[in-house]
Amino acid sequence: MTLLSVNTPTEELRRVDAAHHMHPFTNNSELEDKGARIITRAEGCWLSDSEGNRILDAMAGLWCVNIGYGREELSQAAARQMSDLPYYNTFFQTSHVPAIALSAKLAELAPGDLNHVFFAGSGSEANDTNLRMVRTYWQAKGQPERNVIIGRWNGYHGSTVGAMSLGGMKGMHAQGGIVDGIEHIDQPNWWLEGGDMSPEEFGLERARQLEEKILELGPDKVAAFIAEPVQGAGGVIVAPDSYWPEIQRIVDKYGILLIADEVICGFGRTGNWFATETLGLRPHIMTIAKGLSSGYQPIGGSIVCDEVAEVIGGVEFNHGYTYSGHPVACAVALENLRLLEEEKVIERVRDETAPYLKQKFEALVDHPLVGEAKIVGMMGSIALTPNKETRAVFAAEAGTVGFICRERCFSNNLIMRHVYDRMIISPPLVISKEEIDILIERARQSLDETHAILREKGLM
Ligand code: PMP
Repeated sequence: MTLLSVNTPTEELRRVDAAHHMHPFTNNSELEDKGARIITRAEGCWLSDSEGNRILDAMAGLWCVNIGYGREELSQAAARQMSDLPYYNTFFQTSHVPAIALSAKLAELAPGDLNHVFFAGSGSEANDTNLRMVRTYWQAKGQPERNVIIGRWNGYHGSTVGAMSLGGMKGMHAQGGIVDGIEHIDQPNWWLEGGDMSPEEFGLERARQLEEKILELGPDKVAAFIAEPVQGAGGVIVAPDSYWPEIQRIVDKYGILLIADEVICGFGRTGNWFATETLGLRPHIMTIAKGLSSGYQPIGGSIVCDEVAEVIGGVEFNHGYTYSGHPVACAVALENLRLLEEEKVIERVRDETAPYLKQKFEALVDHPLVGEAKIVGMMGSIALTPNKETRAVFAAEAGTVGFICRERCFSNNLIMRHVYDRMIISPPLVISKEEIDILIERARQSLDETHAILREKGLM
C-alpha cells in the first residue's frame, strides 16, 4: 500500500477511509457516497482541511480543545514524559509522579472536599467507574439494596455499556440492552417540553420528578442521581433557575449521592473551573475528561469526596483500566492546567469573552428562524422554529432543518453542530472577540441561507 500523508490527494484519502475506517455515530455508507472532510492541521480556533479551507471550529473538536489547537508546550510535555517514562500503571501498590501530581492538582482545583481522583481513559470509562463505585460504596456501608441509579432522558454520559445506560439517549438504548437498575426522569428542556408552564414552574416540576421517582422506587433503594450540569450532547439545554436548587434539596433530603458529569462543563467551559460552582451544586463525585487535557491526550476520571473515598478505600475496589493515570496523558493534562491557570484563560472567559459572546449570541433571536438562544459561559444553543410565539416544531422530521443549517455552516467554514433542530456551539476558551464576531457573522449567514432553503422547499 502507498504511504498515506496529508499530501495524498483528498479523493484517495476518502477512498481508503471509506474502505477501512468505521466512523463513530455515522451512517458509514452515506458517508462513503459523500466523502469525509479530512482535517489536516489546526491552530488556535482554526482547522485546515485537505482542500485548503480554513474553518472556524465553534465546537472545540468534541467540546474538548479548551486551550486551543497547536500548543507546543503540550507536545513538549508529552515528548518529555515519553522519554522519561512512557508507561507504567498504578495497580499493585505502585505509583508515578505524573499521576501523583495531577491528582493533587485536581484536588486543589475542585470545590469542597472533592479531594480524590480515580483515573480513566475517557469520560465514558469514568462514568462506568462511577456506576461501579457508587454501588460498591453502598455495599460497603451495609446497604447493598441501595443500587438504583437515576439519570435523565436525553442526558449523555458516554458510549460504553454502563455510561450509555446512565445516559438517556433512546437511540443508543435501542441498539443494546441497558444495565439493570438504572432509571430515568425527564429533562428540564422548557423550550420543547414546557407547555403552558413558566420556565420556573417547569424547572420545579422537572426537579420534583426526582423526588417522585425516589418515592416510587423506595428511598432505601436509590444509590445516586447523575446529571450533566448543562446537558451538552442533548442540545446544550440550560435548566431554568429553579431546577438545580430543588435537585440539591431532594438529593440532600434522601441522602443519595450526586454525580455531576462535568465532562463538557469542567475546566472553564461555564466561566468557572467547574459548572457545579456556576450552579451552586455540591456533588459527591464529578466526572471529568475532555478539557482536562484539552483533548491532546485521552484521559478522564472521577473526582471523589472525602467520605466516598474513605469508604471505597476500606475495601479492595476491583476496578481499573490499563491506562488509568497514564503518565503521558497525566503530564499533558498537568501542563494544560498550568497554561489555563497561568494565562488566566478562565478569568478572561468569565469577565470578558463570555459576556461578549452572550450579548452577540442572544441577539440571534431576532432572526426569523430562531426561537430562543441560551448560553452559559462558552456553551450555547439556539432553537430553530417555524413559529417562535407558539414554540412550534417543523413539520419535517425532527433534525431535518438542523441538518440543513449544519451543512450551511460547514460550507461557510464554520463548525457548529445540530442536535435535532437546535444549533449548538462550544468554542475553544481562547476564542478572541474578533473571532466571536466571525462566528456570529457566519452563523447569521448560515441561518439566512437555511431560511431561504426552507422557503424554497416549502418546509416552513
Ligand atoms: N459525559 C458527557 C457529559 C459527555 O459529553 C461525554 C462525551 N461527549 C461523555 C461523558 C463521554 O466521554 P468520552 O467520549 O470521552 O467517553
